[in-house]
Amino acid sequence: MSSELELKHRSLCNNIPAVMFTTDAEGVLKQTQGSFFQQLGLNQETLERISILDEHSILSPFLPAAKSALTGKTVRTHLTISGKLFSLWLSPIKEQNKLLGLSGICIESAIEIDSNLPENKLQSHYDLLAEYSTDIITKYTPAGICTYASPSINKILGYEPETLVGKPLFEYFHPDQGKYRKKLYSKIIEQPSDERVCYRVKHANGSFIWLETHSHAINYTETNEVTEIISVSRDITERKETEERLLYLANFDSLTGLPNRALFRDRLRRAVARTQRNDKKLALFFIDLDRFKTINDSLGHHAGDQLLRSVARRLKQFARKGDTIARLGGDEFTVIIDAIDSAADAAIVAEKILELMSPPFKLDGHEVVVSPSIGITVFPDDGDNMRSLLKNADTAMYRSKGKGGNCFEFYTPDMNAKAYESLVLENNLRHALEKEEFRLYFQPQIDLHTKNIIGIEALLRWQHPEQGLLKPEQFIPFTEETGLIEPIGEWVLQEACNAAKKWQTQGLAPIRIAVNLSLRQFVANNFVGKVAKTLAETGLDAKYLELEITESFLAHNVAQATETLKELHNLGVQLSIDDFGTGYSSLNYLKQFPVNTLKIDRSFVRDISTDPDGATIAEAIIAMGQSLRLNVIAEGVEREEQVNFLRSHGCDWVQGYLFSVPLPEDEIVPWIRQNNLQNSQYEQKSFWPEVVNSH
Ligand code: C2E
Ligand code: MG
Ligand code: MG
Repeated sequence: MSSELELKHRSLCNNIPAVMFTTDAEGVLKQTQGSFFQQLGLNQETLERISILDEHSILSPFLPAAKSALTGKTVRTHLTISGKLFSLWLSPIKEQNKLLGLSGICIESAIEIDSNLPENKLQSHYDLLAEYSTDIITKYTPAGICTYASPSINKILGYEPETLVGKPLFEYFHPDQGKYRKKLYSKIIEQPSDERVCYRVKHANGSFIWLETHSHAINYTETNEVTEIISVSRDITERKETEERLLYLANFDSLTGLPNRALFRDRLRRAVARTQRNDKKLALFFIDLDRFKTINDSLGHHAGDQLLRSVARRLKQFARKGDTIARLGGDEFTVIIDAIDSAADAAIVAEKILELMSPPFKLDGHEVVVSPSIGITVFPDDGDNMRSLLKNADTAMYRSKGKGGNCFEFYTPDMNAKAYESLVLENNLRHALEKEEFRLYFQPQIDLHTKNIIGIEALLRWQHPEQGLLKPEQFIPFTEETGLIEPIGEWVLQEACNAAKKWQTQGLAPIRIAVNLSLRQFVANNFVGKVAKTLAETGLDAKYLELEITESFLAHNVAQATETLKELHNLGVQLSIDDFGTGYSSLNYLKQFPVNTLKIDRSFVRDISTDPDGATIAEAIIAMGQSLRLNVIAEGVEREEQVNFLRSHGCDWVQGYLFSVPLPEDEIVPWIRQNNLQNSQYEQKSFWPEVVNSH
């Protein structure tokens, strides 16, 4: 061969995945052409010492074929070296029947092999196994580069197997695996073990699939160096999703998507441990929605659920990374604020929560105002373990509820005693009605112009056997929470109507009696029917009964409120809005309700002559009342200067200590007589407003 020709020949042999070789009779390699052996890390020098009959050498896969060829046969077979499949032709070299050695040619199997050859059948069988396996079989170089992927990868991950060859495994990992990618890579490629690894890889369509992979390192070299990694991977997406779903259900509230009680406890435990380590403070909030039960009962569970979801969404708005907001069940939410410096930081968060919750919620087309009662406890100041933290936050929450809700309270040690008192109180309350411990007190409402009585407000008291006479704010919140307000409210209505009727029969000129209502009563089933029944039973004319509602009744469920108010109005009952100015009523609202009277809340009246804001609001309410042709009564009038201010702004109707404190029945009757006597020209009818709305 000319040297040019030989060069071409060599270059060809080096570039094709094949090798031609001869050996001596001992199987020691003599001549080789092709770089294949070099690729296995065998240099020329080693090659000359290596025998394909040596069962311990890297070329040991040649052994069975070599033994067979030495018997004089030509052998055609397949063998695997370094994870690659080769076809081998091996023939004896003979000279005058004397065996001199072997000559062979070995070609990587990507080159067409005649599959009819019987020796190929076994290999084809393996190929078929890989081809038809539902698992993915992949091979990688020790550097994690894919050298083979079985066709099932197309079905599972959407890739054509060839497109993966030459690409690093890394490329297909889910980005969320973050730091874990390195560990994962090591488990699959660098140090495969018997352990199966689960991880997510990218599907060709961009989604992610969970695989469970078991990989094996193959080493063929004498130095035990890994030459190839074979992985078998299974699609476990469905199983993982079920697992994740179960995990989710165990840890999250399915209604709001917030962590549930179990996860909350876990987070609190961790947060406490973290706080101990970093020498900071932690605030735990318990949040309970005021009057949630009423909403649930009146608007239905669907609206209740909607409300809980909206509350969760609003609460999430203030959360920083690391804060936990959880739903413990019902209308109870909790917040863990980690790493704060002082309780003042928690107060800021509480203010923020109140602010976030203040706009009305839209539920099934209704606008509803829902306020929270918030209890806060600070770790480590208030307690050094989880149990006491949970208890303290709960106690503080009940305290804010007891204050009427829509506020927050920090836990203080004396609360435990008070919480106990509350519990006892609540227990006693349940029996107060049957034990006839409730009383009605009466406070007159006066027309400044004539000094005549234009009405009397009935105010509830509880004659507690040990604690004496209790005011409504000391027990009404409990009755609202527990639902006791309904029977108690019925009692108040009955008693008030009875009293008003009795006074008439005792010869007093008829006086309108005002009764306060709770939202829960107002939205209860057949409330109007109950009022009508009470009037019928007591014989009181409907026009002598006034029902006091608050703005929250109107905001709660506009459609229902309108309906109920219209029915009451049709019954002939008078309607007033108590504590007016403290809620959300807009002028628009008022127009659609058949109310007769606005009662200016006493907070605006208190400093009417000194506080410009209070004065402005009072003035605005008076003006609003006049423009809507409603009566306006100012509550809580205690001083002459308040009277002067009110009169000068056109409000003649007042109620307050300046005229009389609320009095028990045996004192109010003489009071009325006395007042009537002083105003002998009193003509009841002319002072009573007729209903001006056209409803
Ligand atoms: P309210 O309906 O706004 O009643 C007026 C409150 O102001 C009464 O307090 C009354 O005693 C007080 N008050 C009257 N004049 C003055 C004054 O000049 N100065 C001051 N500082 N206060 C004055 P009370 O009796 O403690 O009632 C408090 C609240 O409890 C009532 O506010 C009402 O919302 C509620 N309430 C009273 N009775 C009932 C009832 O039978 N049912 C329901 N659901 N709530 C009731
Ligand atoms: Mg009132
Ligand atoms: Mg009031």
